[in-house]
Amino acid sequence: MIDLHCDTLSRVVESNHTLWQNPFHFDITRALDAGMTAQFFALFKHDQDDNVVLRAILHQIATFQSQFNEAMGARVVEKPEDLSMALAHGQLACILHLEGADALGKEAALWPLFHQLGVRSLGLTWNYNNAFAGGVLDKEPAGLSTIGRNLLARMESLGSILDLAHVAESSYYQALDCFSGLAMVSHANAYALCGHPRNLNDRQILALSEHGGIIGVNLVPDFVEAENPDLDRLVDHIDYIASLVGIRHVALGSDFDGADKLVLAGVEEYKQLEQRLLKRGFSESECQAVMHDNALDFLKRVFSA
Ligand SMILES: [Zn+2]
Repeated sequence: MIDLHCDTLSRVVESNHTLWQNPFHFDITRALDAGMTAQFFALFKHDQDDNVVLRAILHQIATFQSQFNEAMGARVVEKPEDLSMALAHGQLACILHLEGADALGKEAALWPLFHQLGVRSLGLTWNYNNAFAGGVLDKEPAGLSTIGRNLLARMESLGSILDLAHVAESSYYQALDCFSGLAMVSHANAYALCGHPRNLNDRQILALSEHGGIIGVNLVPDFVEAENPDLDRLVDHIDYIASLVGIRHVALGSDFDGADKLVLAGVEEYKQLEQRLLKRGFSESECQAVMHDNALDFLKRVFSA
């Protein structure tokens, strides 16, 4: 499996546990046992004060970097050779993602420094407006700002991944229009099946697919269904997005450790989704596409020499 979003890193920083072993939804040991290939790790801190955010994010980066060494079953992926080495050695490929550009304050020019620190993916906002773009839960969601466009230009020249999860609808289309790099929505489902504001409406799904992007389906119950969220309903979301734009745009974006309870207990249960897809009539190759192949193709495009 390849998963486009987890919040485990910020949990680890606030605990005495590690990314390798912890009582949370995700750890690398269980991920390897479950047969996972790659995982995105979100850096995340929400605070009114950008300086507090920046300090917390730097702390999370330092913690992340301290967890890896050459001998281990996982590898930080920053360049094409890292991905090919991880794949060749059966190591979990670990990609660092910044969820919300608030740590940059108003300075798009800081993004290359985050790139130097190994961050390869950026979500413009979390739920609220910042200097760069509008957040999906803001009372008055802003559009993409001039410095937001500047940031996208810098991301494009560095080959950064643009993540449009949490971005308000107007900023979402504006960002896709002016960014020609690789874009994804790391953790969201279909609004047509579950009217959560973080889910994507048909127009958003179509716009992302036209851009060649992928959507990681989210295991948070509120995003699956208001009444009876379960794994079968999650399969409905996969089915819906696949019917709308093709199965090659569907991937996984668990949001492990981003909410208390998910429709799976943790990474060790990910195989249950595979079984459920097969039971629902998805072919072996369609199932592999969702669980692994689509996200791997995407990563190979990001990390191409
Ligand atoms: Zn999130």
